[in-house]
Amino acid sequence: MTPIRDELRDLEPYAEQDRDVPVCLDRNEGRADIYEPSLACPGISLNLYPDSDAQALLEAVSSRLGIDTGTIMAGNGSSELIDLLIRTYGGPGRMVMAFEPTFAMYRIHAMTQGTRYTGYPVETDRPYDKDVLMDGIRTNKPDIVFLCSPNNPTGQTLDPDDVLGIASATDALVVLDEAYVEFSDLESLSARAVETDNLVVLRTFSKAYGLAAARIGYMTGPKGVISNVRKVAAPFRINALSQALALEAYKRSDEVESRVKVTVSERGRVYEKLLDMGYDVSPSQGNFLFVRAPGSDLGTRLLALGVLIRTLQPKEGLYRITIGREDENDALLGAIKEINDDKNR
Ligand code: PMP
Repeated sequence: MTPIRDELRDLEPYAEQDRDVPVCLDRNEGRADIYEPSLACPGISLNLYPDSDAQALLEAVSSRLGIDTGTIMAGNGSSELIDLLIRTYGGPGRMVMAFEPTFAMYRIHAMTQGTRYTGYPVETDRPYDKDVLMDGIRTNKPDIVFLCSPNNPTGQTLDPDDVLGIASATDALVVLDEAYVEFSDLESLSARAVETDNLVVLRTFSKAYGLAAARIGYMTGPKGVISNVRKVAAPFRINALSQALALEAYKRSDEVESRVKVTVSERGRVYEKLLDMGYDVSPSQGNFLFVRAPGSDLGTRLLALGVLIRTLQPKEGLYRITIGREDENDALLGAIKEINDDKNR
């Protein structure tokens, strides 16, 4: 039997934990549960292939942002768009760079495309510093740079003007991942990216829009980049039901915004309570918090109490906690208090 490609041999699949747990706060899913289960089907001919470009969604985004539909592309989750961007602009002899810790799929997609990956470590306890990022880019000369703002898992952000500054100071393709932008006070660069030569912005319906199950996202960027990526994309990648759901969700942006406000207020509450209980937690602009608790075994201890969080680095004690509904957050805080009381007993 043909062996797996050499560069893939040591690659670990994206880790998922057993989720048969009462409270799951491990995946940064949104809590905008505003869609009825019957919503997806009306008017869809299930015997026909879906619109390959998700044209109706592109038109909705186009008219809201005031940009041409040729500068927008939909994907099977923004994950697929990350993969397609690397397929188009990466490959053997090219390099992807990202600032770590960050979303693991930049590295995994780079490696699966035979693309060198450089994870440039940055401090996690302060907002991104444009000069530090620029130093990393000048030193490594990547072909593609991923900037994630707000960053998963740290919640750090980069000022949109600094993103534009970085894009204009490099020849690399700069990909700004705005998966969590709705939870932040940052202004999205979705529209402005279109006027640049080399900046693409990723958006998703999986977080604030509460449609993680539908797997749909989109990107905006210069027309030339979007038409190049279209060359490598398979047809019919986004099913018709998901297209319809995303369009409906987009129309309900006001409702989504009010759910986001609840999450942001819950994020503040959970953050303060964790600080009060003595935890080292970073201020976050996402729908999650980044916690440093070395030696606490926090992930395992919470799981034993029915709460699943994301354990990032068990040895260093790095964790990411998704902000859930109020009752879920109460369950989390109750469990953490129990762990603390136990420790102090
Ligand atoms: N970017 C970031 C930063 C993420 O955290 C995630 C999901 N965890 C994604 C992209 C992918 O999202 P989706 O494929 O659901 O759009």
